[in-house]
Amino acid sequence: MTRKRLFRQLYPSYLFVALAAAAVPLALLGPRPVPWQGVAAASVAFAAAVAALGSFSIARRLGRVLSQVRQMLERYAQGDLGHKLPTPDPEEFAALVEAVNRAGAQLDRRIGELMRQRNEREAVLASMAEGVLAVDRDERLISLNHAGAELIGAEVEHALGRSLPEVVRNPALQRLVSDVLDRQESTADEIELSLHDGQQRTLHAQGSVLYDSAEKPIGALVVLHDLTPIKRLENVRRDFVANVSHELKTPVTSIKGFVETLLDGAVRDPAEADRFLRIIAAQADRLQAILEDLLTLSRVEEGTEKMEIALEPGNLKDVLRAAVQVCQPKADERHIRIELVCDDGLEARINPVLLEQAVANLIDNAIKYSPPGQTVRVEAHRVATEFEIRVEDHGCGIGREHLPRIFERFYRVDKARSRELGGTGLGLAIVKHIVQAHGGRTTVKSALGEGSTFCIHLPRL
Ligand code: ADP
Repeated sequence: MTRKRLFRQLYPSYLFVALAAAAVPLALLGPRPVPWQGVAAASVAFAAAVAALGSFSIARRLGRVLSQVRQMLERYAQGDLGHKLPTPDPEEFAALVEAVNRAGAQLDRRIGELMRQRNEREAVLASMAEGVLAVDRDERLISLNHAGAELIGAEVEHALGRSLPEVVRNPALQRLVSDVLDRQESTADEIELSLHDGQQRTLHAQGSVLYDSAEKPIGALVVLHDLTPIKRLENVRRDFVANVSHELKTPVTSIKGFVETLLDGAVRDPAEADRFLRIIAAQADRLQAILEDLLTLSRVEEGTEKMEIALEPGNLKDVLRAAVQVCQPKADERHIRIELVCDDGLEARINPVLLEQAVANLIDNAIKYSPPGQTVRVEAHRVATEFEIRVEDHGCGIGREHLPRIFERFYRVDKARSRELGGTGLGLAIVKHIVQAHGGRTTVKSALGEGSTFCIHLPRL
């Protein structure tokens, strides 16, 4: 309300009060009232009454508007900023109400902007593959994205607001955060984490100082990168190189030893020479078998990686029949019967040469690890969304503890027995990779002393 308007509103009251004020001293002049003094007294009373009435009316309206404004501010405080006060009656209070409405609208816009920025920041953090966590100067978690929570084995809602050691007990991570907070400089480290479920993780942690908008340090920010798969791969490669060297070393050492024995004079004893040469030939065959299996494995792996393995519609029974034929001489030698059960019309997308090799490897194992006189059953079926090719034997079976690792390269339950039977320890790894190249998977069921069933699952056309 402008001052001018207020003055206009109150003007009559002022007038009467002024008149009354002029009249009062007259009333006080003489001890006896005269008629005009009575009139003056009445006027004063009337003026005072009118002034009081006017002021009361204005105070009431002002009170109403102020009460509305108060209610409005309470709503703002509760976050309800979308509400506007109507222009009040009288209009003198309009400026006040407009100012409040404007402040509300501005606050609404500002909060909207802040929410948008916060949502954007959270969306960025949530979609990061790296784990991000931030702590304040007391090492309390003030931010944690889902990747970070998963890496440290915590829940975001539970972790926020708690101190870091309470959420994850890891001295290396603790040290890294303390270093950043103490020295106010970035630092990086590789940390090993043992999670509640016993899982081991290797993480690369990069810690840096967290600043507020005024460039004041307010805590530490840590970015976590999961190195576990890379480490696992490194281990597999290291084991593989060690295994290959070991596998090759055995026959090479043996060949070298017998050649030296021959050179030392055994060559002059025809019977000895013949025996040693046969051993050398067997070891050379073994070397060749290992190298061939290694080459096959690397070709299949490379072909799968580069998507170079051609798959075409082919008949499964033809493939199974060819694999059985390859293994038949060995089966006859060990008096083992091979039974083939397969419908004629089963067609799948296959690489016939590779699939034949995979099935032949399984049949070869079934023959190798079955006692003479047993039957090996080879069958293929259409099952729901896939084809199943099963190779079942009633041989020695495999202990439960070995089953998860049986498809690893060079993994053998009984090393001596496998070598004795001419195994390289690569047969099942080759099967696994060939089946993967077909978009399928391999499973095994086995019980010690009862036999094993290996199964190739191929997707249907
Ligand atoms: P290997 O050349 O030694 O047979 P594989 O990779 O083919 O190598 O098999 C790995 C190991 O799995 C074997 O050494 C053997 O211990 C076990 N195994 C494979 N197939 C069978 C089977 N049908 N019955 C029993 N054990 C088997």
